[in-house]
Amino acid sequence: MQQFTDCHQFINGAYRSGGAEEAKRINPATGEIAETLRYADAGDVRDAVAAAKNAFPGWSRRTPAARAEALLRLAAELDARAGVLAALETAQTGKSIRLSTEFDVPGTVDNVSFFAGAARQLHGLAAGEYGAGGTSMVRREPIGVIGSIAPWNYPLQMAGWKILPAIAAGNTIVLKPSELTPGTSLLFAEAAAAAGVPDGVINVVTGSGQVAGELLVTHPDVAMTSFTGSTAVGRRIMAMAARTAKRIHLELGGKAPFVVFDDADLEAAAHGAVAGSIINGGQDCTAATRAYVQRPLYDAFTARVAELMESVAVGDPTDPGTDLGSLISHAHRDKVAGFVERAREAGATVRAGGSAPGGNLAAGAFYRPTLITGAAQDSEIVQDEIFGPVLTALPFDSDDDGLRLANDTPYGLAASAWTRDLSRSLRASEEIAAGCVWINDHIPIVSEMPHGGFKASGFGKDMSMYSFEEYTNIKHVMFSRDATAHKDWQDTVFRSR
Ligand code: NAD
Repeated sequence: MQQFTDCHQFINGAYRSGGAEEAKRINPATGEIAETLRYADAGDVRDAVAAAKNAFPGWSRRTPAARAEALLRLAAELDARAGVLAALETAQTGKSIRLSTEFDVPGTVDNVSFFAGAARQLHGLAAGEYGAGGTSMVRREPIGVIGSIAPWNYPLQMAGWKILPAIAAGNTIVLKPSELTPGTSLLFAEAAAAAGVPDGVINVVTGSGQVAGELLVTHPDVAMTSFTGSTAVGRRIMAMAARTAKRIHLELGGKAPFVVFDDADLEAAAHGAVAGSIINGGQDCTAATRAYVQRPLYDAFTARVAELMESVAVGDPTDPGTDLGSLISHAHRDKVAGFVERAREAGATVRAGGSAPGGNLAAGAFYRPTLITGAAQDSEIVQDEIFGPVLTALPFDSDDDGLRLANDTPYGLAASAWTRDLSRSLRASEEIAAGCVWINDHIPIVSEMPHGGFKASGFGKDMSMYSFEEYTNIKHVMFSRDATAHKDWQDTVFRSR
């Protein structure tokens, strides 16, 4: 397994140790100490920002083709490290090796390839004459040093989502991954250096949110903060960024509804609900969390979902036969279990799971796929983000009710609707307030399409051409075509004499 002894920071093209406290990383699947880390202190963060600032003039002035070439080489470098990346992603998160191998790593490589192409397609409006006597054009310019902060659930993919649109557009970056999962972000930066991305363009500082994260948000030379994580921390970052009036990009929590209409394919919906709620241990901001099922299908749906959940293979994440590995940490597993216990005490029914497996999994942070029925719509298990393999199910009668319930949380990241009726699917796609609505599926993402939230799930888009709106400044340049000393519009201000 890749170890990062004394090299937990990647600054200006080189690994180094951090200046802050030592921390232990626990393997969540075994409970054993996996490695000792040295986190970044203020000096490390300052050095990383200085390196990014230094690299900005050179990188931003490279042609799009030159930046694209480096990204294409990065895709190849990452692909060559696919096995190491997948094994490390599983070791630090506890997610199944199948997910790391078939989703995280290829998804990241595809993202790199996409942004290599996208770097050459940064168009604006055509130049034109919009006012008398003037020709206008729009320049799309990189912003400067981007400070990015990422969560632990998909560390490698999040590194890609943060770094790629930023550097493809000509910015430079300092990324702070979660303190729980720094490894694959460090490897990403190393691969970029091997691909010829110049020193200082990508820097990774690892450490806690309170130290490294806050320093990055408040640093005056960081032009923009791009954050993915919980809504609570997002709000705090928004307030901190106000001090320097920084641009911010916030991808926050989710509580995705899963609306099953009475004409849906029951088997498809049940399979979709299980896969969509247990993916990545349910630690996916778009995971299916609230099933609303029209009454005629409700009993059959909940029975089938409970049956399928009991068949999920929970176990050693490194075993290719495992469907569901461990959660990120024991503390997080206990938090998930707490939600389920409180729902049970409040009178809800646990139809599947609802406990941690024992036996040889007892030492890890495992939790079984869980289906809860009979919880109140306004209860915490339906309203709050649990971030574990827990699905609630509630019945509804009219289509109006189903769509109203779908929108009845503060979040708005993703949703799905299950129906064979075209009008219903169009209505659901229009009326559900979320950044993504799937029809008859739940979870798939593609590099070409935007990802991002509404409401308390944040704002701004990752992936796709839309992400460039986040990482570029739009500048209006106007050329006067009037060669005379006196211009007519000036008469409005002062009459020429
Ligand atoms: P978190 O908010 O606890 O932490 C996210 C990052 O912020 C970490 O790197 C952490 O160190 C840092 N941080 C914490 N406090 C900070 C502070 N005061 N200042 C600066 N940085 C700080 O989230 P998490 O537990 O790592 O991840 C889970 C959350 O991420 C869930 O809410 C999930 O929905 C969300 N998420 C959202 C998306 C999306 O695209 N919308 C994607 C993945 C995860």
